Amino acid sequence: MVGGVLKGDRRSLSRAITLVESRLDAHRISASALVDALVPHSGQSVRLGVTGVPGVGKSTFIEKLGLELTGRGHKVAVLAVDPSSGRSGGSILGDKTRMPGLSADPKAYVRPSPAGGTLGGVAARTRETMILCEAAGFDVVIVETVGVGQSETAVASMVDFFLLLMLAGAGDELQGIKRGIMELADAIAINKADGDNVDHAVKAGRDVENALHYLTASSPVWRPVVLTISSLENRGIKDVWSTVLEHRSHHEKAGELALKRRNQAVDWMHDLVEEKLKQEFYERPTVMKRLPELTRAVEQGLLSPGSAVRRLFSAQES
Ligand code: GDP
Repeated sequence: MVGGVLKGDRRSLSRAITLVESRLDAHRISASALVDALVPHSGQSVRLGVTGVPGVGKSTFIEKLGLELTGRGHKVAVLAVDPSSGRSGGSILGDKTRMPGLSADPKAYVRPSPAGGTLGGVAARTRETMILCEAAGFDVVIVETVGVGQSETAVASMVDFFLLLMLAGAGDELQGIKRGIMELADAIAINKADGDNVDHAVKAGRDVENALHYLTASSPVWRPVVLTISSLENRGIKDVWSTVLEHRSHHEKAGELALKRRNQAVDWMHDLVEEKLKQEFYERPTVMKRLPELTRAVEQGLLSPGSAVRRLFSAQES
């Protein structure tokens, strides 16, 4: 499988990703060995995160950007982090039907979000998948996430550049996008700047620029850039890519890119420790046995949550 992935064979890559996504213990061990073998061949890509509320135009944007980049000779992988996928049965990010042109492009690889599991689990598998794609020769990896909840933070912590897509709304330009997410963004693109919406979009862009003055910048060598684009009409997409490259050259010169990736690797390790601890705890036989009864006692107000937790931790394996 290692040889197949390194040759850029798509079937090997798909099989490798399926292995990495498996939650069976036996598969986890081979998946780790696979990722270890491929890590030395990874890290060469531009890692781009894209977020925004449903309907903002993420898939339209990624399709246009992806096709622009494959047209320039890049190999583009599109991954997704969506912990709700599979459970909700709703629209699954990275679903191939959302990006028909890019999915049919031999220089692109579109992979839906791994189904089910916690955000931590989905994020960990997406990070490993990113390594596999890089080892397979993809030099641009786009990680998409939906702009609700915690998944943006997870994606921002695995990419070099984080793009927030927004819309010009009537009135409230910030449309519930949390301040924390704007602070993660290296660029904010106001999408759907076309037709009657152009003036609104330009105004929204100015409002966002003003708002950014009050936020903490995500990097010491970069001020977030605000752009107005139309993914539908394919306008401004190239400017987004130029911004990504400019950001990259700034960060490379200042040594910030290497530093960011080192910090991300360490954060990733700590995330894995937390995931593992959680998993091991819930799989302890005594915890499995006593959890339902203690949960009921907490529900009925017979036991405080704190006492229940103390009992779970002090339960002896018999
Ligand atoms: P996602 O849920 O964020 O992936 O959004 P989609 O890419 O599926 O887009 C949602 C809707 O907005 C679709 O009907 C798109 O055709 C439309 N859309 C996306 N980008 C633009 C744009 O730049 N201008 C206009 N007018 N519509 C767009």
